[in-house]
Amino acid sequence: MLQIPYLNQWRSFQIFYYKKGNPKWPPERHHLTYNFKSSANVPGSNQDISAVCSRAFKTWSEVTNFTFEEVGENAKADIVIGFHHGDHGDGLPFDGPKGVVAHAFTAVDGRIHYDADEKWSLLKDPARDEMDLETIAVHEVGHVIGLDHSSEKESVMFATIGFGTIKRKLHSDDVQGARDLYGGEKALLRTIKEGVGKKWSEDMGSAWSEAYDQLAAAIRLR
Ligand SMILES: [Zn+2]
Ligand SMILES: [Zn+2]
Repeated sequence: MLQIPYLNQWRSFQIFYYKKGNPKWPPERHHLTYNFKSSANVPGSNQDISAVCSRAFKTWSEVTNFTFEEVGENAKADIVIGFHHGDHGDGLPFDGPKGVVAHAFTAVDGRIHYDADEKWSLLKDPARDEMDLETIAVHEVGHVIGLDHSSEKESVMFATIGFGTIKRKLHSDDVQGARDLYGGEKALLRTIKEGVGKKWSEDMGSAWSEAYDQLAAAIRLR
């Protein structure tokens, strides 16, 4: 029962897991491009799919140092997103409706594949038999940046999700996982700056502004 005192700590900080060997994008590759290449019909207009995926990328860029940009289909992109049926040539055949709905290759491969045999919902709430594309996109982008499944049920990196369910927002477990993998100082600093803005030095007192200066200096040193 020696483990009991450590249980809280484990629950708070160690629930996320990284992909084997902790693959991650090297520091200079924090601006990642993506495009779309599908071998199957896509479940809606290209514009809608692009809008959904861009929201999922934004969810991660808000809490990490990553920025994501869509590029044309002929450009070489870091992350290639596609809809495919069954066996689609990567040794991980999809299983038709239900079951596995998507998979992703982690850093620095970056492919994200969606099972074209699912009923996907775009830009609206999913019906009971539909899978919410943004929910799954947020999960798969987590894999692409290096996160594995988490045992925290509320996290987006939890391995399973029901049809008709929405989970588009990151849990603190997801955020902690990404920040521990990459260091989240820049994103944290951005959040602080945006949240507090100019009122910072007037209202917060010298201790806070000193901490801010130290943080900024630490970031410059990296
Ligand atoms: Zn695949
Ligand atoms: Zn997964």
